[in-house]
Amino acid sequence: MMNTLSNQDRYLTSTPSTHQIQSLFDLVAHDNIASIETIQQRIAKCGLSLDDYRLRTMRTRLEEYKNKPIDIDAFTEIVREELLAVKKILSHQLVIPEWQEFCQIILKIFNEVDPNHSGRNANYIPVLRDADPEKWGVALCTVSGQRYSIGDVDVYHSIQSVSKPLSYAYALNKEGVDFTHQFVGTEPSGSPFNDLRLMPDRRPFNPSVNAGALMVAALIASGSPEKSARELTQDIMDFWFALSGESEVVNFSQETMESELSTAHNNFAIAYLLQGNKGLPRDVDLNKMIELYLSCCSIEMTSSMLSVAAATLANGGICPITGKQVLSAEIVKKTLAVMQFSGMYDNAGTFLFEVGLPAKSGVAGAVMAVVPNVMGFATFSPRLDTYGNSVRGVAFCHKLVDRFTFHMYDSLSGGRTGCKFDPRESQHNQKQRDLSDIRWALSYGDRYATKIYDLAMTTMVDICIADTDIELDVIKNVLEEIVGTKIARSELRDFALARQSKALAETVSPFDVTLKNLSSEKEALDDNGREIIFESVFRVACADGEVETEEYDMLLRISEALGIYAGIVDLEINRFKRKQAR
Ligand code: GLN
Repeated sequence: MMNTLSNQDRYLTSTPSTHQIQSLFDLVAHDNIASIETIQQRIAKCGLSLDDYRLRTMRTRLEEYKNKPIDIDAFTEIVREELLAVKKILSHQLVIPEWQEFCQIILKIFNEVDPNHSGRNANYIPVLRDADPEKWGVALCTVSGQRYSIGDVDVYHSIQSVSKPLSYAYALNKEGVDFTHQFVGTEPSGSPFNDLRLMPDRRPFNPSVNAGALMVAALIASGSPEKSARELTQDIMDFWFALSGESEVVNFSQETMESELSTAHNNFAIAYLLQGNKGLPRDVDLNKMIELYLSCCSIEMTSSMLSVAAATLANGGICPITGKQVLSAEIVKKTLAVMQFSGMYDNAGTFLFEVGLPAKSGVAGAVMAVVPNVMGFATFSPRLDTYGNSVRGVAFCHKLVDRFTFHMYDSLSGGRTGCKFDPRESQHNQKQRDLSDIRWALSYGDRYATKIYDLAMTTMVDICIADTDIELDVIKNVLEEIVGTKIARSELRDFALARQSKALAETVSPFDVTLKNLSSEKEALDDNGREIIFESVFRVACADGEVETEEYDMLLRISEALGIYAGIVDLEINRFKRKQAR
């Protein structure tokens, strides 16, 4: 244990700077007074709760201030020992800083996917056949521990094949990489999960197909001959408990297990095949292997819990809710690779191609996916497609990567994603930096910065000509913000007049010329440049506090010409409306 006495004394030689604490305090105080409620609200806005493990001392100290006003001195005393965590949380330094905004978009996607009723429940056992097909839930958890969920996220369901990559991780942890892979391969199979085919070297293709998962169960079972399959299942449930944040119980469905066992003919066929080929590790009993495998499928959890487990993987094995290391980063790396090439059954290739995230599905309707270094999420909806993947779950993943730069190869675009959102903290700061760099470079006549400026100005002036409601002064303000200095009104007016008379002399409208121009320049513009242009125009169009139909159409056409993803315009408009409402 550290010497608790000395912590404060150690720094007594230097006077602590109070102004940083004051600005933290200002975030939770009204008229220089805070309360538990105001602090709680601010924390909740970031997606966290006072129960966060990083705020344990703060929470205890806050108890003493129930119904009492908190002034700056009290606040300092309350947060002192957890100052760094508090600063991070209160001042938007979590992995997704604009949490409310991010959640709005998630909610929108959730609602878009909701009416999708295609697919069918798995029907090989009654529990799955009779499950309510309408259930629909999405839960997510970031590596900073921010959580959000919508819909049926607290419904316990059997995890089925979602168990497979984690049983594999468990085996790697116990038996090591070399021994484990003597019995199971790392190749996509291209066949359905219950296929009997093995690789030419007679190993199962990977840990996600039933043959591989059975082999993993055999490894685990043979490593602890003294334990029954049920005891080993309990160990694996404890492992899931740690992965999912230790706050909700991991259940086991005896009913599922019994149904699985009575219909497991195909799994028995695979098991005998494995035994008859290379043999089972350490000659483990075949029935014990099957029992352990099916028991792992019969573990019951909620989407909310699975999202935390996914976040633990996203965070390199450290659970963001407890701060405990559950797996080593090395094992997580291998587990994610397995999920990536085989997690979505024989649709894994297409899923990687289109969504670009490691994920695992189960036939009860769960999908658990990982955005490395950002977050984990889990969806639940029982209707499955022909591969056995939840239809809504897969649809959600598609829409998520349409909006956000979460596809693992979005990073290759060199900042040309068509302005998909990147909600990450580092990107947030990057944007501010980029704008001030543009401003600085512009003052030296940098070619790229000048191009952005000219395109922004021309586009704004052109929509001003097209829509007489727009004032030149608004454009002036926006341009001044880009350059960071005053610009002459007369210069802008002359430019506008020149464009206007040119328009009168020709048959094409300046707006059409601009659209053409933008679209031919778009390859040369990075996301940041496109955003500056689009945002400038957007602000001009919204200057009167409304977006009229005509303006909306112009914005859409401009975004299209710039190669900006169409959904962004609506997102911007919603964001603008929310700001207006505030
Ligand atoms: N438990 C089932 C089986 O082994 C289904 C597993 C899964 O989700 N694909 O056949």
